[in-house]
Amino acid sequence: LQTHSLSLSLQAKMSRPVQARRLEGIDKNIWVEFVKLAATYSTVNLGQGFPDFPTPDFLKEAFMRALSGENHMLHQYTRAFGHPPLVKILAQYFGKLLGRDLDPMTNVMVTVGAYQALFCCFQAFIDEGDEVIIIEPFFDCYEPMVKMAGGMPMFVPLRPKAPKDGKLMSSADWQLDPDELASKFSKRTKAIVLNSPNNPLGKVFSRGELVLIADLCVKHDVLCISDEVYEWLVYDGKEHIRIASLQGMWDRTVIIGSAGKTFSATGWKVGWAMGPNRLLQHLRTVHQNSVYHCATVAQEAVAQGFQRELELYGKPESYFVQLPKELQQKRDWLVQSLDAVGMKPIIPEGTYFLVADISEFKSDVPDVPDSEPYDSRFAKWMVKNKGLAAIPLSAFYCEAHKNNYNHFIRFCFAKEEATLKAANDILQKWKGEKTSP
Ligand code: PMP
Repeated sequence: LQTHSLSLSLQAKMSRPVQARRLEGIDKNIWVEFVKLAATYSTVNLGQGFPDFPTPDFLKEAFMRALSGENHMLHQYTRAFGHPPLVKILAQYFGKLLGRDLDPMTNVMVTVGAYQALFCCFQAFIDEGDEVIIIEPFFDCYEPMVKMAGGMPMFVPLRPKAPKDGKLMSSADWQLDPDELASKFSKRTKAIVLNSPNNPLGKVFSRGELVLIADLCVKHDVLCISDEVYEWLVYDGKEHIRIASLQGMWDRTVIIGSAGKTFSATGWKVGWAMGPNRLLQHLRTVHQNSVYHCATVAQEAVAQGFQRELELYGKPESYFVQLPKELQQKRDWLVQSLDAVGMKPIIPEGTYFLVADISEFKSDVPDVPDSEPYDSRFAKWMVKNKGLAAIPLSAFYCEAHKNNYNHFIRFCFAKEEATLKAANDILQKWKGEKTSP
């Protein structure tokens, strides 16, 4: 009997391949590796994009009121496509920004972070063989999400132009070549993904650049998935322009936002998608049949956060006015620290990221031929030997282009003054070691 049950249990062990074909080639993930390295070795983590300063009190208090208040229904399911108070205030707030009446029930959908809004878009719109244009460098999940939906990502790079007079480069110096962009549009193109302000460069697309993209979308009847999670984080008086507000674009654009980035509460995972019902109805199908909805209490608190912001619209006390001011100062500190040691920063116009050129530090981590891009080996060496965590820029390029821009690393500056100071100390000490005999 014993031999029989042993042979049965051996037979019961699965031997057939289990992985669905759609996961082929997308199993590696930069964040798993770098988050682990940062946790193991870093003393100063400027890697992953999240603030280490506190979430604003008004938002935490709203959460606590929702959690412990009289309305015990806030602990139960709410409306699948968004908690009514949240979709209502989002429609009101963004309706004001976009200059159009938004219907909270059909033009807005709440998601589990911007991540899920992106996932819903690709699942809802992309068929086998459809092409999706992605602008490099890009937030890394766009590529696997397109592939999982059966689509073909088509990459077009932002090309850097050296600034004149030895000035520091700005993210505005990274631009699309209009002919190259136009050449990526074809009959098979279903959508383009736009991310302005852009992670990782911090580029804020100008009106001219957006008009170029919009005209191509209209000409080729293409959808625009517009990831605007850093919409409030623009500096030096720059303006964030919503591509959906350009002629012919509302009808073909899904705007994606994130309460995590908006209110410095990335762990809450509240995001949203906005657009015409013609598009959003398909996002609702994916959402209804996958996630259903995100935590009611968090949605209630975010609704109250937006209510406050509507009341303080444009005033100095508004968080959306204060946060970019504080972050611009942090950006300037980090720019100065990096520039002082010769790790040339590319000044970002927006977001809380900054990309820096590591060329002058190459002697510390020799460039031996390897399949791993140089910047990736450099970032690993830096966290292990200097305790400073950053993300290699090649992580934001497709496989074929990873070695084209492999001497840059990305820092996140949404950090406390003490964290940025500790980073500065590491850089100064490192520079000292390099120059001393
Ligand atoms: N889009 C971009 C460009 C991002 O940088 C991020 C987060 N790093 C997201 C989407 C995801 O946002 P969320 O945390 O709200 O899911």
